[in-house]
Amino acid sequence: MGILGTMALVSAATVFLSIRATTGSQHRAVVVEVAARQRTLTERYLNDVMLVRAGARAAPGTTAMLLRRSADALLHGGLAPAVNGDDDEAHVAATTNPTVHSQLEQERRLIGDLTRSGAALLANRPLASVELAAGEHPGAIGDVARLRVLAALTSNVSLNAARTFAREADANVNSLIATQVALGAAGLLISVLLALALVAATRRQTAHFRSLVTSSTDLVVLFSGGGCRYVSEPVTDLTGRAEADLLGDRFLELVHEDDRAAVIDAGEQAQPRVLLFRLMDRFGVWRQVEAHLTDLRGDRHLRGVVFNARDISERMRLESELTRQAFYDVLTNLPNRALFRDRLAQGLARSRRARTSLAVLLLDLDGFKQVNDSLGHDAGDQLLREVAERFAEVVRPTDTLARLGGDEFTLLVEGAAEDEALLVAQRLLQSLGDPFSVSGRELRMGSSIGIVVSSGGKAGTEDLIRDADVAMYAAKESGRGRYQLYHPDMALELGEQLGLEQDLRDALKNGELSVHYQPEVSLKDEGIVGVEALLRWTSPKRGSVSPAQFIPIAEETGLIFDLGEFVLDEACRQAAQWRADGILPDDFVVWVNVSGKQLAVGGVNGLVRRALEDSGLPPQQLGLEVTETAIVSGAPGERARGELELLHTLGVRVAIDDFGTGFSALGQLRHFPIDMLKVDRSFVQGLETDARDAAIVANVVSLAHSLGVPAIAEGIETSSQLDSVRAVDCDLAQGFLFARPSAPAEITALLEAARARAAPTPPAPTPPAPASR
Ligand code: C2E
Ligand code: CA
Ligand code: CA
Repeated sequence: MGILGTMALVSAATVFLSIRATTGSQHRAVVVEVAARQRTLTERYLNDVMLVRAGARAAPGTTAMLLRRSADALLHGGLAPAVNGDDDEAHVAATTNPTVHSQLEQERRLIGDLTRSGAALLANRPLASVELAAGEHPGAIGDVARLRVLAALTSNVSLNAARTFAREADANVNSLIATQVALGAAGLLISVLLALALVAATRRQTAHFRSLVTSSTDLVVLFSGGGCRYVSEPVTDLTGRAEADLLGDRFLELVHEDDRAAVIDAGEQAQPRVLLFRLMDRFGVWRQVEAHLTDLRGDRHLRGVVFNARDISERMRLESELTRQAFYDVLTNLPNRALFRDRLAQGLARSRRARTSLAVLLLDLDGFKQVNDSLGHDAGDQLLREVAERFAEVVRPTDTLARLGGDEFTLLVEGAAEDEALLVAQRLLQSLGDPFSVSGRELRMGSSIGIVVSSGGKAGTEDLIRDADVAMYAAKESGRGRYQLYHPDMALELGEQLGLEQDLRDALKNGELSVHYQPEVSLKDEGIVGVEALLRWTSPKRGSVSPAQFIPIAEETGLIFDLGEFVLDEACRQAAQWRADGILPDDFVVWVNVSGKQLAVGGVNGLVRRALEDSGLPPQQLGLEVTETAIVSGAPGERARGELELLHTLGVRVAIDDFGTGFSALGQLRHFPIDMLKVDRSFVQGLETDARDAAIVANVVSLAHSLGVPAIAEGIETSSQLDSVRAVDCDLAQGFLFARPSAPAEITALLEAARARAAPTPPAPTPPAPASR
């Protein structure tokens, strides 16, 4: 811009000066010509007078008139008359040069003297009587000689004026040339300086861009003008091609055919904001790349769209691996509880539409615990695998046989009515008829089966599983190796549940509930970085009741809302108290469990904000533990995500609890604000006995790290479990090995001890002397 502006300015000035100089020169040329012509006219006048005196025809009057008018034009500007056989009339500008001006004035006076003398001569009047205005006094000479002298003087002064003019014109042209040269040089200089400045600025900008880009491990690609204009080093590393081999269209050659159009579009329109595409690496393997687009088309240095991309292949692999692990039981390779639930929900929907029935069978092995205890876990595992194989042999391929966990299996038979369900149950029991040989022993294994049949009623998946469970207990009660169809009056369990529900309501009112806290420690230095708040119920009637028992009932009956609010308020108040006492580390977080039910119904956002306000606890010191199922499924999941996102923006932390047990849409986690993943206790328990559990723990930890958050292993009971989770780079841990969930006072003591270790307390200051009166 600067360069162009200067160039334009300098050129305009030059052209303007040239035009002015040219028109000026033209004027001066005319003036010089007219002035020179005066000489000719003067001579012609003298001739004319002589000719008339000799009796010939001539017009001295006309020539005199021409002389005078030309002189007037030269002096004041105007039209110089045409001269017969010589010149056309010409426009003359008034002279501005004082020398020329006085010369022309003298000329004008001399012309007056000359023509008046000529007229006197022709009229035979003595020339001495003619008054002379020009101040020239030819002396006592003859009249004709006198006239000649006057003519010579006139012609002389005209010539002088013309010469002065010409000189001035030359000087002007010279100065014009000088000015133009100066202007050109100045323009050039300024342009060069500006160009240098521009080059430096561009270098700086580019260097800045490059430094941003090269310091990042991101794959950075700049698209501009329909092609690739820049790639960062990680791109050349990944693709094994030099930068020059990736510019223009060549980058696109490495993009998967099916993704190419989307990449081209994105490079031109900076849309969408996030783009997934496949890029071929140096080994010819497709890498899944996630690019975030920045529209810098308005930036005059880049004029393009910048792709900041990451290779997420490993993360995607982990996710799909985890998804597989999430849906299949690793021991038997049968579908697990999560997948069974899903199939059951679909089956229920189909049976409602088609008005057919459906049966759920729940199987629990009889006496399996004794096998496990006496022969060990390996024998137990082998037995479970063989049982699963036998079951699988007697069910139709369209049925879903699943392992719910432990020694519990379940079977979904779509389209089955009661009698068919009973037949299936018989077949299953018969399949166990032959003994199993495990660890060199012959074992007989039986099973109790609960059956529930749905024919389009209101019962949902959980209801059916629970009812089948009730029926299975009834089968066990009536002796082993039997099956039992569910009846509504089997709700003995339900009665128990009702009793518990009423007691729980009273517990809240009577202050039987309290909150305990379990420390979470950093695996770096084993320092306490947070606590998990856990609800405790000590009933005067029942003694201490486990949350595992009463939380599901609270969720079912809606009591969970009151309980959740109680825990949240209490945990915030307690943490704020520790903070006020000055024993809370800065980045300490108190984690509160939030039930999926609470999230699905909504209102958590308001609840949390109020608890924070009432307690004065900074939002950063509160964390919410949610299960993945609560945030990924359907419209309730969407509401939950919305509320958690709001809280996350406020600073509240979010952890995914029981991770690895029941997710269906892991991909969504990527766009969800997560601060921590909690590896489920069940995997930690299997760490040393089951290689697959160990793999899951390792995978969850890598997944957390690829999401940029820490992982915590819960339920650490032994130091070898601790070693195992350390070995896979887990960041935090929680479990009985460190501390059991404890009453606030015990946590206070722990925090104080930790603080004393970190910064030994200075000796108590001497109390100020009492003011004397
Ligand atoms: P959770 O969220 O997975 O909580 C961790 C459970 O593991 C707690 O059981 C804790 O006492 C137990 N635990 C911790 N370390 C160890 C260990 O080393 N070994 C073993 N075997 N267990 C360990 P708890 O307190 O019985 O709670 C059970 C579940 O009840 C919790 O599982 C959580 O889902 C629910 N729960 C507890 N308090 C609340 C609450 O305030 N709100 C909600 N919504 N749910 C809660
Ligand atoms: Ca928890
Ligand atoms: Ca947990």
